[in-house]
Amino acid sequence: MQRNLTKMLNILLPSHCLLCERTIFVDQSDPQDHLCSQCRLALPLNVHACHHCALPLPPRSLDSSKSVHSTCGACITQPLADRTFAPLLHQGAGAYLLHRLKFNRGEAEGRTLVQIMLTQIRPQIAEARPDLLLPVPLNYWSLVRRVFNQSSLLAAAISKALRIPVADKLIARRRGPAQRTLSRVQRQQLVKHSFVWRGQPKQDLRNTYIAIVDDVLTTGATAQQIVRIVRQQGAGRVDVWCATRAEAVGG
Ligand SMILES: [Zn+2]
Ligand SMILES: [Zn+2]
Repeated sequence: MQRNLTKMLNILLPSHCLLCERTIFVDQSDPQDHLCSQCRLALPLNVHACHHCALPLPPRSLDSSKSVHSTCGACITQPLADRTFAPLLHQGAGAYLLHRLKFNRGEAEGRTLVQIMLTQIRPQIAEARPDLLLPVPLNYWSLVRRVFNQSSLLAAAISKALRIPVADKLIARRRGPAQRTLSRVQRQQLVKHSFVWRGQPKQDLRNTYIAIVDDVLTTGATAQQIVRIVRQQGAGRVDVWCATRAEAVGG
């Protein structure tokens, strides 16, 4: 009894909601988000989205009487991936949490985003599990400036939660200018040629189910190129797992 009480006091630590700073209690032994119940309910969830690219769709395009999934206009002819998850819209609290993760190395924000991602991903995992998680690599200059890769951080936490290995050496970015300094058109052109396969030349990904992990999905140009590269290596199903989805603004 005494031991249990001591254990409880050790793990249930007071903290603050990342969005409104209200006091909350966080169970250190059980990973969870760092949000109060009100802020959790107010998150900008990406509920009506394209099955293949997570683009938010207008509610009228959803027909609840049909069991088939929703697909945006672009994905009807050229689906971005077999399945894309992006549980939050890249606005308000979604954009804020991601910005804190990226530029302030916000570990609590990272854990929170991962918990939100897992809520959407876990039901899928019950049907089929990826063999590998593949975080989108940072380019050289971003790596120099920020030292850590937020996509790798998300992938590592998801890997720990779902026990799926991370393959972070298979694809690399060529050295080039930081994408933030470029226009959307320049960025899309650059992305077309900015990734290279770094796995073994004959590494066989046949029948491998891969989930590409990124922080935010915007134009989809980055994900599209990585999907193409792993498919060239024979990968079977390829998903994209992101924290937030922007509506293709800014690239
Ligand atoms: Zn709050
Ligand atoms: Zn789509």
